[in-house]
Amino acid sequence: LSAGLKSLQHERSITPDGVAIKLYVNTGLVADIGASREVGCDGVGLHRTEFPFMIRDRFPGEEEQAQLYREVLEAFAPLPVTLRTLDVGGDKTLPYFPIHDDNPFLGWRGIRMTLDHPEIFLTQIRAMLRASEGLGNLRIMFPMVSRLEEVEEARRLVERARRELAEEGVEAPAPLLGAMVEVPAAVYQAESLARRLDFLSVGSNDLAQYLLAVDRNNSRVASLYDELHPAVLRAVNEVAEVGRRMEVPVTVCGGMAGDPGIALLLLAMGMDGLSMSSAGLLRVKWAVRTVPYRDARRLLDRALGMEYPSEVRRLTNETLEAHG
Ligand code: PEP
Ligand code: MG
Repeated sequence: LSAGLKSLQHERSITPDGVAIKLYVNTGLVADIGASREVGCDGVGLHRTEFPFMIRDRFPGEEEQAQLYREVLEAFAPLPVTLRTLDVGGDKTLPYFPIHDDNPFLGWRGIRMTLDHPEIFLTQIRAMLRASEGLGNLRIMFPMVSRLEEVEEARRLVERARRELAEEGVEAPAPLLGAMVEVPAAVYQAESLARRLDFLSVGSNDLAQYLLAVDRNNSRVASLYDELHPAVLRAVNEVAEVGRRMEVPVTVCGGMAGDPGIALLLLAMGMDGLSMSSAGLLRVKWAVRTVPYRDARRLLDRALGMEYPSEVRRLTNETLEAHG
């Protein structure tokens, strides 16, 4: 990392004309915690909980999970840590829990699977809540939401877990609850979701995959997978607008957030935060601290009117180059 970027570690992420945006890290491995410390972040915007499930030969138990979650929550406290409930299915499978779908990305994935197995869901939620005792920085996020009923059921189960823990003498603070907006249906229901939740986070990796009907892991169609496709930009902008109108915080936690040029567009949309791998955070912080918000707004206005992703890319590159 260049010394210039490294020196931004302790600086705030705020534009030269005074607009602040939170920069969070995505984590999933214990190793991510140390790396995040070195870049100076505002917390964890997405903790993927899948990895410990994938490397074992059975579902990790409540105690085992609680210890893992405690480690992340403690490392960042008092900054917020967003733990996402298990998102298997799609391309992520567990050796001891095979899922046979003809079309895995349209199948039994994320919240769909865990709500069908409330014992798996409740064990994880109990572990998260227990891990948060005395800390108060836990946020819980649900993946692959496509229906309001899923959010309502998930919320009921979280409340049930909290009630049962309280009866056992564990007083876990009420966590903030949020959903990933990563299925196109959720974009069009963003307002209803915002009414039922404390925050939303755009999962642009899956949102682009589903909007463009392009498998995010298929090299044959990789050139069609484009986060700057007008459909993707407009969808993400729509979620940001809903968030502003409803006064519910919206972040982006997909790969878009870690691209400095695209981050400027997301800032201009009025996103409250961006969550990315720690490796890209300082570069995004540099872009935020370098390009005035009013310039980013102009950039966004032009980008939203463009018909080709290549035009948008040229524009964001030019803007970054113009600022050094
Ligand atoms: C996403 O879909 O954008 C996302 C952040 O989640 P994942 O990459 O784990 O599916
Ligand atoms: Mg996703």
